[in-house]
Amino acid sequence: MLIKNQIYEAEIVDYTTEGQGIAKVEGCTVFVPNAIVGEKVRLRIEKAAKTWAAGKIVELLERSPHRVNRECPVAKLCGGCDFWHMDYEEETRLKADRVRQCLNRLAGENLQTLPILSAPTCLAYRNKAQYPVSVKKGKAYAGFFKAGTHDVIENERCLILPPESDAVKQLVIDYVNQFHVMPYNEKEHKGLLRHIYVRRGAVSGQILVCLVLNGRRIPKPEVLIERLKKVQGFTTLVISVNTKVGNSILGDEFITLYGPGYIEDTLCGLTFRLSPRSFYQVNHHQAQRLYEAAITRTGITKDDTVLDLYCGVGTITLAMAKAAGRVIGVEVIEQAVEDARDNAKRNGIENAEFFCGDAGQAALELEKQGVKADVVVVDPPRKGLNADTIEALARFAARRIVYVSCDPATLARDVALLKERGYVLSDALAVDLFPRCAHVETVILLSRKDVYERIKFDVNVEDLQGRASSTATYSEIKAYILEKYGLKVSSLYIAQIKDKCGFEKRDNYNIGEGKSKELICPPEKEQAIMDAFRHFGMIRD
Ligand code: SAH
Repeated sequence: MLIKNQIYEAEIVDYTTEGQGIAKVEGCTVFVPNAIVGEKVRLRIEKAAKTWAAGKIVELLERSPHRVNRECPVAKLCGGCDFWHMDYEEETRLKADRVRQCLNRLAGENLQTLPILSAPTCLAYRNKAQYPVSVKKGKAYAGFFKAGTHDVIENERCLILPPESDAVKQLVIDYVNQFHVMPYNEKEHKGLLRHIYVRRGAVSGQILVCLVLNGRRIPKPEVLIERLKKVQGFTTLVISVNTKVGNSILGDEFITLYGPGYIEDTLCGLTFRLSPRSFYQVNHHQAQRLYEAAITRTGITKDDTVLDLYCGVGTITLAMAKAAGRVIGVEVIEQAVEDARDNAKRNGIENAEFFCGDAGQAALELEKQGVKADVVVVDPPRKGLNADTIEALARFAARRIVYVSCDPATLARDVALLKERGYVLSDALAVDLFPRCAHVETVILLSRKDVYERIKFDVNVEDLQGRASSTATYSEIKAYILEKYGLKVSSLYIAQIKDKCGFEKRDNYNIGEGKSKELICPPEKEQAIMDAFRHFGMIRD
């Protein structure tokens, strides 16, 4: 165990998911903020446990060529960003590598490299800001939380936000101070103004301002509205009522004080209506590239029915609609579903339907109702897919699943589960939507193994091998099992069980880049296949 407050020399060898450096000292893993791989440092141990410790750099012995001077003056304190101390090249390298490592470690892949789409700029890209409000020496101010705390760090100009956003923040703060609006105090659950929320359409330039209140009313709203009108693009002012204790920013009730209560923006050639609660990617340029990458990977045609689970306001769903026969979006937030339906209408899209509900439950219900999904797109929040969604995906057995993820670890966990259910990972691409911040998006293509395999397989086995006198063809075995058990079995499974029973190993089921072995026939299908073998006189009890 390392000793607290003692100084050690160490080399930074890797990064954590939050972008901190990792060093190994005397067999112990030390987490070091603001460090870059390859750097040799002297660090002070600030916290020491048995197998890990937290350290702080006290001296840089060998500086990484990727180290840069921080452009943001509050970067060291503010918990909003993670990477102002390194260049963008190193940031994107580490992000792509994190996705690669997750897929290798948690999903049994063996990827040597993984591509990443870098952003063209790290500045002013974020079209949504949520400033917590606090008070210092009797004056209200707004900023961002210090890392790991709820202390608000003041920042006049946040470099990743558009200047209009900071202008709105300052205007609201001046108004708050003039009319003695009390900033909310979390510890005492007192005060009125909790957050200032600003969303700006990257293309439209329209601005939605939402004040999150521990209450319902603000004094002199007309004065605030008149002042906000001076900010170019200001379109609407909304109050979000959040009187609950806790960390959720927005409440459930919204009161529109000015304008329509939503803004519009253009994405992938379509117009979208955006309410305060609707999810909308914060980096417009990179979101478009992410969606294009996802849609390209679906390989959809006009004959296909496509399911878009976790669809938000229908961005991906509607962007796919033109190329598909029918698109169905599922989303849990009612307001987002309303937006999605409205978005379909305003873009003249008629082959899109939206359902409100939990993705997994809704998908199971759709499957029960006989909906056949040729392709499924999933874009869940950080926690990834739930058990129902995995189950629904297994039942749909879509030709392709395109998984858009904001958390490589839960993505890799889900990829492993989907591989057990007959899919192979065909493609992975990281996309950087959050320059200077540790988050990274990924698009994964999963193809159904038995479809992919069967084409090769049936040619290999049935055409080349022909039919031995006492053997049934794969098709006969499949038909028998489908009729008797209602189960679909793949050629791969049949070949596996043949192998188990000691049949001649002419059926080479290891085609397909040597990945086929990973797919193991489930016991119920094994029993059905064995029964078919008995039925066709291929084996005896
Ligand atoms: N694909 C959309 C939204 C992705 S964000 C886009 O790119 O714009 C994830 C979405 O999943 C959010 O809109 C969130 O409200 C929704 N969501 C979260 N949990 C869900 C659940 N259990 N079922 C369905 N949707 C859910």
